[in-house]
Amino acid sequence: MPTKKREDALVGAIEGGGTKFVCAVGTGPHDLARTEFPTGDDPARVLAQATRWLQRQERERGNLRAVGIGSFGPVDLNPDSATYGHVTATPKPGWNNADIVGPVRDAFPSLPVAFETDVNAAAVGEYYWGNAAGISDFVYLTIGTGIGGGALVGGRLVHGLIHPEMGHMLLPRATGDTFAGACAYHGPCWEGLCSGPALAARTGVRAEEIQADDEAWAYETEYIALALANITSVLSPRRIIIGGGVRRAGRLGQEQFFRLIREKTRRAVNDYLASAVLKDEIEGYIVPPLLSDNAGVCGAVALAQLALDTK
Ligand code: ADP
Ligand code: ZN
Repeated sequence: MPTKKREDALVGAIEGGGTKFVCAVGTGPHDLARTEFPTGDDPARVLAQATRWLQRQERERGNLRAVGIGSFGPVDLNPDSATYGHVTATPKPGWNNADIVGPVRDAFPSLPVAFETDVNAAAVGEYYWGNAAGISDFVYLTIGTGIGGGALVGGRLVHGLIHPEMGHMLLPRATGDTFAGACAYHGPCWEGLCSGPALAARTGVRAEEIQADDEAWAYETEYIALALANITSVLSPRRIIIGGGVRRAGRLGQEQFFRLIREKTRRAVNDYLASAVLKDEIEGYIVPPLLSDNAGVCGAVALAQLALDTK
């Protein structure tokens, strides 16, 4: 990405989440007009709502130059594929093989349309305007309805074969933990153990309401630490940003949640990776997003602006 030029152009942005679609128009976080629609089970309907809202904004603020989309996945990111810009196989009702880019292109036929995973988009947002400013190797994670990770490696977003699906990594079980896990594909994968719905299935209450002393937080932070140690071992990121609703950690609170994760990640790495960043400086290694819940949509803004650079 550092090889591409981002222009401060007026663009449209769509962040498609499992629960809601966030739409925005602007040139960056400081001047965003923003709205939300429930994702629902009818992709055509929410995409029509999104594009109509962008078109209304365009009438008020002037012509958009591009549109950027960050979508929940799995998605097809291969521009040569017949299903480019679609969500692929998802258990989410109505969304299997849903075309995301098509309706946006139809609504804005003359504009470049950028398409990324939601977490890669959020990583780009934090890279330009947030806690990863100028860091060309880092990971952005969301722990919410699902778990996902986006990675910038040497300044480039990782796609590879499909795109990373860090949330579905498999972890050793904590001693005494018999929770079956909530992933439709893997049961107790990381997402199956630690997403918001997994916490709710484990405890019988919404994640927001789980008490500070509930053992669910001990398991939650233990598994997250194992996953962060794995991510650190595989990708050697210079920083890990954790966004998503679960990081607010119910009655435990965000501060305490990050404190436990840092401590347990440090313990999991066990001094093997010789960097002060993973020891005394771990407070700056594992951090929340500066853009908070706008990281994804701001990233979609930046991706749209990057799509203007045709070199
Ligand atoms: P999405 O993943 O749909 O984009 P979020 O990142 O907000 O949206 O994640 C929603 C999940 O986060 C839900 O499972 C919800 O229970 C959980 N959540 C939201 N707020 C909190 C909170 N304060 N503490 C713990 N969990 C929360
Ligand atoms: Zn899974």
